Amino acid sequence: MLIRKNDTVVVIKGSDASPDHKTIAKVLEVYPKENKVLVEGINVVWKHVRPSRRNPRGGRVQKEMPISAANVMLYCPRCQRGVRVGRRYLADGTKERYCKKCKNSLGTIGPRAKRRQGVATSSPSSSS
Ligand SMILES: [Zn+2]
Repeated sequence: MLIRKNDTVVVIKGSDASPDHKTIAKVLEVYPKENKVLVEGINVVWKHVRPSRRNPRGGRVQKEMPISAANVMLYCPRCQRGVRVGRRYLADGTKERYCKKCKNSLGTIGPRAKRRQGVATSSPSSSS
């Protein structure tokens, strides 16, 4: 899954999706194990909660429920639409996401490549 927390996504399926794919929202949480994402304002349900210490009266609260990651597409600011995303590696080994349409970078993901030891040899470059 190439979607990360705080990403902007377009909801393409489900009751909160608009037919023209204009439903743009922010990802609040990702659940990689279940391949699901929690999207702000999407799939909001009324939860009926029992009285608890935090909520002594109980009742109904509105709450987002996770939706399948397959129902959202990452939003590309350059294309201004939801796009398919690829992954590629930069010269320094950093993993990066990119828009498959415009090849624009959509930010780095994953752990950075391990720094090779001995690269940062601080030699005073006074060779002239
Ligand atoms: Zn793009």
